[in-house]
Amino acid sequence: MRILAITNQKGGVGKTTTSVNLAASLAATKRRVLLIDLDPQGNATTGSGIDKSAVKNTVYHVLIGQKSLKEVIQRSEKGGFDVAPANRDLAGAEVELVSEIAREVRLKNALALLDGEYDYVLIDCPPSLSLTTVNALTAAHAVMIPMQCEYYALEGLSDLVNTIKKVRAYLNPTLEIEGLLRTLFDNRNMLAQQVSAELAKHFGDKVYRTVIPRNVRLAEAPSYGVPVLFYDKASKGAKAYLALAGEIINRKPTASPAVS
Ligand code: ADP
Ligand code: MG
Repeated sequence: MRILAITNQKGGVGKTTTSVNLAASLAATKRRVLLIDLDPQGNATTGSGIDKSAVKNTVYHVLIGQKSLKEVIQRSEKGGFDVAPANRDLAGAEVELVSEIAREVRLKNALALLDGEYDYVLIDCPPSLSLTTVNALTAAHAVMIPMQCEYYALEGLSDLVNTIKKVRAYLNPTLEIEGLLRTLFDNRNMLAQQVSAELAKHFGDKVYRTVIPRNVRLAEAPSYGVPVLFYDKASKGAKAYLALAGEIINRKPTASPAVS
């Protein structure tokens, strides 16, 4: 079982889109996938076709120790993967956990109770370096960082890398950065091309070869509660996420230590 945290404290960089569509693409290649929604906005839940206002038990109940993951998991029938859903309740977890014992390892402990049911666990993180995100980083084998290739892309990356270093020092010594994923990419944009080339130069093979293009189908699919594969499988977006799934499956861990 490989656990990937999809993290970037910036909002709108494609974390949730990547979580849902990578989950569906891995499932399409017969991998058993669990998607954990760790954002109170619950967009990964909705995007997987699950009504977030109708779910009673969510990852919030897992983090506060009231439920096991198995008790909250739902099936994304269309997507072909399992989902640990989230909704607004999760916003309360940050505050409620502050004075609790082992607050950073709640998710890790919950995942340890699963045995071999999944090949991949993807964790869709909130846009913050909060306790919830620290739970994801503590539970994960590796981090995937979606980034938009714009002028400010690298700003904030050092905060994330510092958080990862602290998590390594105190909570999860083997945490790796799996890769940086270029998202919302517009090939006609000169700046995007430059930033993309910079990233590749700087971070070497820590940058996924697959680039996710800006594609309107990716933005439309969530309103139908389906991953893009089931909305327009011929779209550039669908093909890109299938390619990313292939790259992840074939990827050798720790290719280069460029991001430490
Ligand atoms: P995050 O989870 O990082 O906040 P989202 O995945 O929710 O980001 O994406 C932010 C917005 O951009 C959403 O409206 C989403 O539909 C849209 N979006 C994300 N990736 C793409 C893409 N590759 N092409 C077009 N729209 C995208
Ligand atoms: Mg999101």
